[in-house]
Amino acid sequence: MITVTSAKELAQLVSAAKSAGKKVGFVPTMGALHDGHLSLIKLAQQRSDFVVASIFVNPLQFGKNEDFDRYPRNLTADAEKLSAVETDVLFAPTVDVIYPGLENGGQPAVTKSAGPIGEVLEGAARPGHFDGMLTVVARLFELVQPNVAIFGAKDAQQLFLIRRMVRTDFEGLEIVEAPTVRELSGLALSSRNAYLNEAEHAVAEKIYRMLRTAKDSATSVSAALDSAHKQLQAIQEAQTRSAGLPEAKLDYVSLVDAETFEPLAEDFHGRALLLVAVVIGKTRLIDNIEIIF
Ligand code: AMP
Repeated sequence: MITVTSAKELAQLVSAAKSAGKKVGFVPTMGALHDGHLSLIKLAQQRSDFVVASIFVNPLQFGKNEDFDRYPRNLTADAEKLSAVETDVLFAPTVDVIYPGLENGGQPAVTKSAGPIGEVLEGAARPGHFDGMLTVVARLFELVQPNVAIFGAKDAQQLFLIRRMVRTDFEGLEIVEAPTVRELSGLALSSRNAYLNEAEHAVAEKIYRMLRTAKDSATSVSAALDSAHKQLQAIQEAQTRSAGLPEAKLDYVSLVDAETFEPLAEDFHGRALLLVAVVIGKTRLIDNIEIIF
């Protein structure tokens, strides 16, 4: 694996690969890599001949009171993991490579808008998050010039917005969805799981169990939502009743049309996503499950 930090070195490697007739696959990440990220690399290897992974903790997609400063960073360990699965290139740029022209202490400019769908669910809880996310993903696409890029299904709203941006701004780029990798308990792997202590982890494990139960009781749109709400309420109440247990606070639970991200009418038929965000202690976790009506 070759690690590069400059746009020029990256461009040289990618153009050499393309000249050799290779299809270029791309996996953007913020590091603190786990098996979920590595599954994306493996999928990229199946879908392309030359895989570039990036590690960049994007300041633009964190709110003022969010965890940008404490977000886990460990480039050496991450590079070892990527090298072990035979990633071709690790692109680990500094902020000025991604957002040039900030030498005088300026703020990076948001150049993409996620529109109304960027303001609901995750976007409602994290104002500006999706505009910042799309801005960095677009910039990374410009620098890497991939033929195919892989994103995880766990971040469903992110994936939806990226697909929509690519249709208009990056014609010809293929976006591939990777299934969510989970612990045995069902908890979706996430870099933020590192924040959880043992008691919080035990609560976090209930999230996916709740999604499965709601899916099993999804004889109708309202039955699925009722089930999810009741279970989450039960989880919250159990946590608040017992002193010493970590607090669990439901942020949202929502059923949306997977193709439009709009809420479902009761008579909806097709592929839906049941989305949930829960705050456990200080950690905000998201997950989702597909339900076909
Ligand atoms: P992040 O580093 O958290 O920005 O994530 C980078 C990519 O990995 C995104 O496309 C995520 O959706 C994906 N990802 C994160 N967690 C998982 C997981 N548990 N399974 C599969 N993909 C994941």
